[in-house]
Amino acid sequence: MTLRDDPGAGVATSPDARATAEVSSRTGARAARAGRMARARAAMVERGVDVMLCSLGADLPWLTGYEAMPLERPTVLVLPVEGDATLVVPALEAPRVNEAPELFAMRPWLDGEDAVAIVAGLAGRPSRVAASDRCWAVLLLGFQRSLPGASWTTTSDVVGALRAVKDDAEIAALAAAGAAADRVAAALLAGEIALIGRTEAEVSTELGARLVAEGHAKVNFAIVGSGPNASSPHHEPGSRRIGPSETVVCDFGGTLHLGEDAGYCSDITRTVVTGEPGPEVRELYAVLERAQAAAVASVRPGLQCQEIDRVGRRIIAEAGYGEYFVHRIGHGIGLEEHEEPYIVEGSTTTIEAGHAFSVEPGIYLPGRLGARIEDIVVATDDGVRPLNLADHSLHVVEA
Ligand code: ZN
Ligand code: ZN
Ligand code: ZN
Repeated sequence: MTLRDDPGAGVATSPDARATAEVSSRTGARAARAGRMARARAAMVERGVDVMLCSLGADLPWLTGYEAMPLERPTVLVLPVEGDATLVVPALEAPRVNEAPELFAMRPWLDGEDAVAIVAGLAGRPSRVAASDRCWAVLLLGFQRSLPGASWTTTSDVVGALRAVKDDAEIAALAAAGAAADRVAAALLAGEIALIGRTEAEVSTELGARLVAEGHAKVNFAIVGSGPNASSPHHEPGSRRIGPSETVVCDFGGTLHLGEDAGYCSDITRTVVTGEPGPEVRELYAVLERAQAAAVASVRPGLQCQEIDRVGRRIIAEAGYGEYFVHRIGHGIGLEEHEEPYIVEGSTTTIEAGHAFSVEPGIYLPGRLGARIEDIVVATDDGVRPLNLADHSLHVVEA
């Protein structure tokens, strides 16, 4: 369900039934988090990790439903392999937390208190500690001074592979985000978003506004690369005005919340042309479309991540564009835009049902033009389910 569909849902469902559904989905989310915490602890045992210190990044919301504010005051979930978990949180931010006493205790701290000392006290005397991948250096160095003698690893080393496998509720959230992004993509393909004569930045702003209108809580990025800028895969949309007969790469995504749960991400790329394309663009795009479809079709449990990359890359290379496909074919997605599994040469990680990731080959002719097609897909028991369904064929947008 999307935010936009909410009023419609109210017609068919009584307020009582909706309240019951909300309570049961909240209970379901809590049960899911309890299961995650148990699996995280089992992974800690396997890796000899005594305590996890989850600060910034998505491990914290994955485990607790709470997302820390990315400010200088530390928020840290201290998760020992045995015993109670404690959320050390700035007192002024404690009211933001949906408390779940069965999952974690709260330790609000006041300005003037030493949050690092509080965390170290709760951590005990660990010999191996996992700190968030996105823990700021200033905080990590404080932890390391306070827990001398411990060895260190990242929380992704412990829970990255667990987070990569999405449960049904997470897949539903990713599907809702994908459907919302699809509606923006459909408007782009239909020529409802004016391109010619506008700057890339203006089009980027409109794509972002439409993501929000379709239910996203926030916009994570909206890349618009036109003409020669389309050959820069992560182009920063700027003051260049889009002209006729250019390729325009639009890659956009945001975070969408279903109910009170933590938000899940969308990420889609469509390339359009602002005038009848010449033979070069037609040929290049046809190769890209084939490569993307073949890579998606290859997805099934048991395959190594690098094999999916190879399927797309081989088609592009055989058509003579190999040197112009300059990035991995995809990345996992969930609470974060980019997370495990990474679909890249060298990754022998095996695809499992529930892995959600992008498939996004691109061909970039430096300084001239470029194209990319990106969908999010999820591996199923017997194959693959695309979460983006917006059309792939080359659309001419003369608006
Ligand atoms: Zn990218
Ligand atoms: Zn993207
Ligand atoms: Zn992507």
